Amino acid sequence: MTKRFTAVGVLLLGALLFTFLLVMPRGALASEKQPGPGKTEEITRGAVTGQTQAKGYDHPNQYMHVKPVQIADNMEPVIQHPEQDQAAREKLAALEKRFGQKPNILIFITDDVGWLDPGFNGGGEAVGNPTPNMDRLAHDGLILTSAYSTPSCTPTRATIHTGQNPLHHGLLRPPMYGEPGGLDGAVTLPAILQKLGYVTQGVGKWHMGENEGSLPQNVGYDDYYGFLGVSDMYTEWRDIYFNPEVALSPARFQMMEKLGFDHNNVHCVKGKKGVEKVYEINLTTIPNLDQDWCKYSEKFIKKMAGGKKPWFLYHATRACHFDNYPNHEFAGKSPARTVYSDGMVEADDILGRLVKALEETGQLENTLIFFTSDNGPEGEVPPHGRSPFRGFKGSSWEGGVRVPTFVYWQGMIKPRRCDGLFDLADLFNTCASLAGAPGAAVTKYLPKDRYVDGIDQASFWVADNGQANRRSRIYTLNQFFSGVRIDEFKALMAVELEKAIFPRGFQAGFSGEVVTQTGGVLMVNLYTDPQEDVNSGIRHIPMMVPLGAEATRYQEVLKKYPPQVKVGFGN
Ligand code: CA
Repeated sequence: MTKRFTAVGVLLLGALLFTFLLVMPRGALASEKQPGPGKTEEITRGAVTGQTQAKGYDHPNQYMHVKPVQIADNMEPVIQHPEQDQAAREKLAALEKRFGQKPNILIFITDDVGWLDPGFNGGGEAVGNPTPNMDRLAHDGLILTSAYSTPSCTPTRATIHTGQNPLHHGLLRPPMYGEPGGLDGAVTLPAILQKLGYVTQGVGKWHMGENEGSLPQNVGYDDYYGFLGVSDMYTEWRDIYFNPEVALSPARFQMMEKLGFDHNNVHCVKGKKGVEKVYEINLTTIPNLDQDWCKYSEKFIKKMAGGKKPWFLYHATRACHFDNYPNHEFAGKSPARTVYSDGMVEADDILGRLVKALEETGQLENTLIFFTSDNGPEGEVPPHGRSPFRGFKGSSWEGGVRVPTFVYWQGMIKPRRCDGLFDLADLFNTCASLAGAPGAAVTKYLPKDRYVDGIDQASFWVADNGQANRRSRIYTLNQFFSGVRIDEFKALMAVELEKAIFPRGFQAGFSGEVVTQTGGVLMVNLYTDPQEDVNSGIRHIPMMVPLGAEATRYQEVLKKYPPQVKVGFGN
């Protein structure tokens, strides 16, 4: 009885003390114990153990507290940096004066290459595929550690070309084996650049539609040399090791040979209908594709030297999408000796050759070089690429969409590494900006109902120590608005559960279940938890609330500029 009384008494006393602590002014106790040096103002920050003397720091490229500016109704809002914009404009004007024309633009896009595959992000030598050319350029350029693709090939390539995320351009997944749907009807970056006086050349993987309206020459390219689909479409059914059920069945093999997609490396020319079939892609010709494409781009670069017009070259490698058949010169050249790593080494060599062509023809200083990958590493068909982040291609976890990226421009971009947000949609705006249509000026080329998810990041790149002009990053997954990131915080609304369905086998972005009804307050901190396996939403509500507000803002954008479906999921 006494014991119980004592216990109740202690509880009551405790409750009283707790109430007292709650109602008394914050910091009163602490300041009596430990007054600040000459400070009399009320203490508003501190730990449970008392006040802090720490002043704290703010960091560049963190914008949770900043309200971005709406520069056009149909564009994402922008973090403005007037001084940085001015500095960049002056540098660009000086260069234009020197060369007498706008800068050339080279976009070099690899396939399924993971964030950690190249050396400049910590892979390279360490994972058995040295990438000396990528590394040298990256270290002499601006390495973008938070650059984002979409979860897979076609959606990303269409995002670069339209400045829209997949919900707006409607290519929600890759069209396979000649399925209908593509860039048809889109206003593309090369089409705008043509209007701004550029020669536009595409080389390599297209995969943005095979129908007449989607062919490269009908969406902005003067000339295109490459294949219209994706690497595996041409060979996986021919290979007796990967698909013996097809390759060793004459009837099924014939079915594939007759399937309505173009089986060739093709040449497309502006003003000409259809494609010129250059040669069939099969197990004999595929190991030479990347070499052939490299030669075509080298020739283009040499041809353009001394010309009066600036140019845009979109070079999309075959490497390293499965199935990799590296050129015989490169088979076994990587210390890892896997077909994937050999593909990395070959792609690195090709980038080096294109840069050499620029150097030899005196065009390097007037050419911006952008390197990236179209999605994270593929995780279902080994050998895989690598990422330090959770998830693979096909998911909107960081591993699926955070891609190795740098931008190099000799004398124009100061070497550095920056975690400011960059979405590959920004290439649309940024390249248009460099070509003469900065900020909202790009909208004059677009219908009013066309929403632009990209942001002009030209001043971020070009101004010395320029900072990102993007406050948030919108994630999409299939037909869903999947998440939003501001600074190091990412809210999750639709996620891929890789291991939800199959108990065995490689499980990655395309094998799992997409879950859209999450618990409500799902937020990860990408700095403390890059693996995205700890929910920090509840503990960090002060950051969750503005992040949630950003998600609500974009939901309103989607109501006003509704999602499109050109290649979808049948639901
Ligand atoms: Ca890809």
